[in-house]
Amino acid sequence: MNNFDIIIIGSGPGGYVAAIRCTQLGFKVALVEKYSSLGGTCLHVGCIPSKTLLDASELYEKAMYNFKDLGIEIIQPQINFSRMVQRKCEVVEQTSKGINYLMEKNKITVFHGVGTFKSYKELEIKNAEGNIEILQSKYFIIATGSKPINLPFTQIDKERIITSTEALNLKEIPNRLLVIGGGVIGLELGSVYKRLGSEVTVIEYSDRLIPTMDGGVSKELLKVMKKKGVKFSLSTEVKNIIREANKVIVKASDKNGKDMLFEGDYCLVAVGRKPYTENLGLENVGIDIDEIGRIKVNNQLQTNIQNIYAIGDVVRGPMLAHKAEEEGILVAEQLAGQKPHIDYALIPNVVYTWPEVSGVGKTEEQLQQEGYKYKIGQFPMRALGRSRASGDTDGFVKILADQETDEVLGIHIIGARAADLIADAVTLLEYRASAEDIARMSHAHPTYAEAIKEAALAATENRAIHF
Ligand code: FAD
Ligand code: NAD
Repeated sequence: MNNFDIIIIGSGPGGYVAAIRCTQLGFKVALVEKYSSLGGTCLHVGCIPSKTLLDASELYEKAMYNFKDLGIEIIQPQINFSRMVQRKCEVVEQTSKGINYLMEKNKITVFHGVGTFKSYKELEIKNAEGNIEILQSKYFIIATGSKPINLPFTQIDKERIITSTEALNLKEIPNRLLVIGGGVIGLELGSVYKRLGSEVTVIEYSDRLIPTMDGGVSKELLKVMKKKGVKFSLSTEVKNIIREANKVIVKASDKNGKDMLFEGDYCLVAVGRKPYTENLGLENVGIDIDEIGRIKVNNQLQTNIQNIYAIGDVVRGPMLAHKAEEEGILVAEQLAGQKPHIDYALIPNVVYTWPEVSGVGKTEEQLQQEGYKYKIGQFPMRALGRSRASGDTDGFVKILADQETDEVLGIHIIGARAADLIADAVTLLEYRASAEDIARMSHAHPTYAEAIKEAALAATENRAIHF
């Protein structure tokens, strides 16, 4: 009874999606999750709760600052923060129930408990009551995800010095929130609290925000967020974070080594995440990890132990839910004898600030480093009828195309609904469209997507129509 074809450890987007695909392909599958509910980081303390708070706070901001201009007079809106947080919990709970339903429908056996390898064929499951069960399987897929990185000199006390997990569950809106790290989490959660009334200061080590995305969109985001009142201290090295009663002091230095001091009542540490392999018993089977703790895998996502695979945040590559999902499907299909493929260069990135930021393919910095001859087509959102109608005029679409062949190499967007627009960009790059191809496709009017066509026109002989 405790014998399976495939056991998957971890029920995040990597693990539960892999489980479904494996059963669709006819395998007998078990899913092991240490927590009492399924969904992993993404559902419980990541993508879904952060977007729930981002959407709610964005509506509040619009009601506060934009409605009047749109001709909507309302009584001053009030924030009911505990309701906002409660609704977020309800969304998470409903979605988790949805995953339970999918597990039942697909006849996937779910075990709740910590999974530890005893051998390359046996996994021990220890549940919250301390009861132990041993499962056997032909194959295993490790999908145990990641945890926040801490700074070596800091004690995360989870009260005032917090990670994203606590920031999604605060009891009050901070008066002054210090955010260490101007990456995705820092900017998304910084935006939530800025909109709800906190004074937010982002302290970033690099000289720019979201360093892995295109420099142009990163610069524009800095400009827009500054306009909204978020404070930034770039090129700043944090030296210490000290809790003093209800205050947090951050000691830092600027690029010239000059001391700096920041004071807040909460400090969110968002300096990246690290793979999570605690208690997995990797040493019991001799699974190799790399210098930063990621499980080493080959192109088939196979570890050095032949029947054990690993996917998602616990292996190399971007720490994104959709990347984890693709990898889960790839492993399932491979085990079924198929020949699937993931083009890692075409995994899109999104930052859910407002305006949203998204990108796929090469950034301008990458093209320069790799010595490409490229051309740029850029089109500002403010020149679109759709943007003026909605009042979302910040941002632009930037298309990077090969100077000689006209093939599109990268599409970078900052603007309203950039998160949704990037799906079209992925399709265009997947089918290796040229800028001319895009320029000749009909785009519905008035839509934000017209900015993609106009940027393509701009890239081919600078012939944008509306700018
Ligand atoms: P996880 O989702 O981390 O799941 C791993 C699971 O394994 C966990 O449930 C854990 O309890 C379980 N586990 C670990 N060890 C064991 C064990 N030994 N036995 C049993 N179970 C175990 N990505 C996006 O693409 N879009 C977003 O908008 C986005 N927003 C984010 C916002 C925040 C605040 C954070 C923190 C992350 C966000 N991410 C986002 C990243 C995304 O959450 C991760 O990339 C994704 O969850 C990784 O999926 P995974 O399946 O690899 O691991
Ligand atoms: P990140 O890598 O996006 O950003 C971390 C930032 O912290 C970087 O800009 C880095 O330069 C800065 N930093 C590092 N050390 C520092 C220091 N000592 N002082 C000041 N700044 C410092 O990491 P994150 O924001 O913690 O997010 C973790 C992961 O979660 C990301 O890899 C991301 O892929 C994923 N995530 C994705 C989304 C999304 O897709 N919308 C949202 C949230 C999180």
